[in-house]
Amino acid sequence: MNRREFLALSAAARAAAHPGRRRHVAAPPAPWYATMRRCGQLNFNERDPLTLDVRAWAEYWASLRVNALLVNGGGIMAFYPTDVLYHHRSAFLGTRDLFGEMAAAARARGIRVVARMDCNYSWEEALQAHPEWFERDRDGQPRRHNESTWLFKTCMFSPYYTEQMPAIYREIGKRYAVDSFFTNGWPSTGALGVCYCESCQKVYREKVGGVPPEQTDATNPLYRRYYAVFMDRLLEVWRLWDAVARESRPDAVYVGNLGGGIRVVKDLARIGQVAGWFNADHQGRSGDTPLWDCAQQGRVARSVMNGRTITNVTGAYSNSRPVWRHVAKPAAETTLWMAQTVASGMVPWFHWLGGSPEDQRWRDTGRQFFSWLAAQEPHFRNTRSVTDLAVLFPQSTIAFYGAGRVQATDYLQGLYAALLQGRFLFDFVHENDLSEKTLARYRALLVPNAAYLADESCRQIRAYVQAGGSLLATFETARYNEWGDPRSEPALADLCGVTAAGEVVGPAANSYMRIEERHPALAGFDGTALLPGPESRLPIRLREAGRAALTVVPSYPAFPPEMVYPRTARTDEPAAVFRGVGGSRVAYFAGDVDRTFWRSGHPDLSRLLQNTVRWLRGERAQPVAIEGDGLLEAFAWETQPGYALHLLNYTTPNLTWGLVDRSYAIGSQRVRFEVPPGRTIQRVEALRSGRVLPFQQDGPAVRFEVASVVDYEVVALT
Ligand SMILES: [Zn+2]
Repeated sequence: MNRREFLALSAAARAAAHPGRRRHVAAPPAPWYATMRRCGQLNFNERDPLTLDVRAWAEYWASLRVNALLVNGGGIMAFYPTDVLYHHRSAFLGTRDLFGEMAAAARARGIRVVARMDCNYSWEEALQAHPEWFERDRDGQPRRHNESTWLFKTCMFSPYYTEQMPAIYREIGKRYAVDSFFTNGWPSTGALGVCYCESCQKVYREKVGGVPPEQTDATNPLYRRYYAVFMDRLLEVWRLWDAVARESRPDAVYVGNLGGGIRVVKDLARIGQVAGWFNADHQGRSGDTPLWDCAQQGRVARSVMNGRTITNVTGAYSNSRPVWRHVAKPAAETTLWMAQTVASGMVPWFHWLGGSPEDQRWRDTGRQFFSWLAAQEPHFRNTRSVTDLAVLFPQSTIAFYGAGRVQATDYLQGLYAALLQGRFLFDFVHENDLSEKTLARYRALLVPNAAYLADESCRQIRAYVQAGGSLLATFETARYNEWGDPRSEPALADLCGVTAAGEVVGPAANSYMRIEERHPALAGFDGTALLPGPESRLPIRLREAGRAALTVVPSYPAFPPEMVYPRTARTDEPAAVFRGVGGSRVAYFAGDVDRTFWRSGHPDLSRLLQNTVRWLRGERAQPVAIEGDGLLEAFAWETQPGYALHLLNYTTPNLTWGLVDRSYAIGSQRVRFEVPPGRTIQRVEALRSGRVLPFQQDGPAVRFEVASVVDYEVVALT
């Protein structure tokens, strides 16, 4: 009998001995998916029933030591002999029950089964019988899939979601031992759809007060009401499906599809309140997406999940632009994506499409990484992150601000890149979760132009600073409420010691910031009186008499060279304010230095941000400091056995141009890792290279050196 069983038994014995007393109810045990560490998925296609070798596939997934396997159940296509009307069977299913066979094969190997569903499309036969299930264009036409044009888009506001999908879940739940349900492609975190079906017309009439705009437009009152109604419906459907999932197994759960990284429109904080398990379907990157895209996804998801399960899908195929579903992406890219998944605290979910691959290269990539993970599993059981910096995740600004003028994620990306270059460890905190409980453990809160910010969030930030927290804010932070209604004065302006003195100037090139006096935030700029200026700025004045450490030199012509001289070489308009507020420090940049850094890559702007963060933190050492060459992203965790430091090597020419094909190993990294007073570390081990590292402990500070990082290293301190 283990300790938990002993405790449970003695609690039961106590309850039995005192039947009249109110029973002491222990916290329910964690659901199975809370301890799951590895997931696999083979996405069936319609032809797979002709040839799919269930045993071979089950053996493959077992060799990866996955805890759960996604198996296609139905929705668009049933892979079992369904009796639900208009639930379309695979044309090649014949007498097979591919779902049942694969589910049984997984279960026989001790692997949990998650039924992979798709609620987004159905067929002509369903359209004829149930025209009310389907989305309509403005002219009443049903919406066809853009590639598979024989499929029609179903509507979330229709009974397809509240009757047909639950009927399918119930049939699967009754016939098979299914541990959970997952829906591909729904609800997503992107823009809201606008549909003209009868259900939606009724919603517009009765709840919205008119037809909402088709594009995201938070200035429009109809859009705002539709946003609330849309989120209400989304959560209603989520809760219904979760309840249906639990009908046959109480520890089952419904899992929605929530990939999207930092680019969100839907309210993640609200979804986080109903989601027992957050799956980020964020399978890879394309175009100029930065390499850290997956780690960022982990930070976003953690900011709303409060320690609950988060998975992230890694596509083993090439989901680049263009996409190739049936060739693998390079092993180095795939591995780094899975490494980011686990480093940022998520559970990896490895995914291939089609049961008869002609490209086999991906198999070993997944097997190698997952086998290593399984062998080191306790070190990936995190209990909390080790950092004292928080970055505000500005959801409303990302969703609504900019409206085509600017890419609203640029501010966050710029700060993020500067933090990586400065080797800071940090968490994201969601703008709607800034309670004292959330923020108390951070020394500083960094706010990258959260232009749209609710009154309550502003109040909480103010309370945080009054309680001793330090603050960085940029540009138009808190100048509008969460929907974009302007305030007469930015809500945190007094905290920043400024008043707004006009409308935003810019974007314009060739403006500068003049260094007026020495300040720790301006360290390392010897030899210049000017720094590159932000493209846009909010003109401000100081509230109190004094001189700003950095002032604005307004833009002047950059061409032709004869014209390139400052028309106003010196102003007293502050470009930045650094001030003490009680025991706190507040730094405010009037310009979009974060975004301008992201667009220009000028290292002065990165250094300025890094210096500012160091000044905000004050004299006390960082909980984790890493010195050495190379671009790294680092995460530190308290784990069940001790601590773990994750080092992701991003030193590659493919940082913003995928795909990574090989690693460029970086040299010695010297680490100082602070553990709580009284804690003695016995062993420091690099888990990827398999080396036990020499270390010194001096009070709480543990010092060691990692000789090299190829792609990813995890150092366990126990
Ligand atoms: Zn509709």
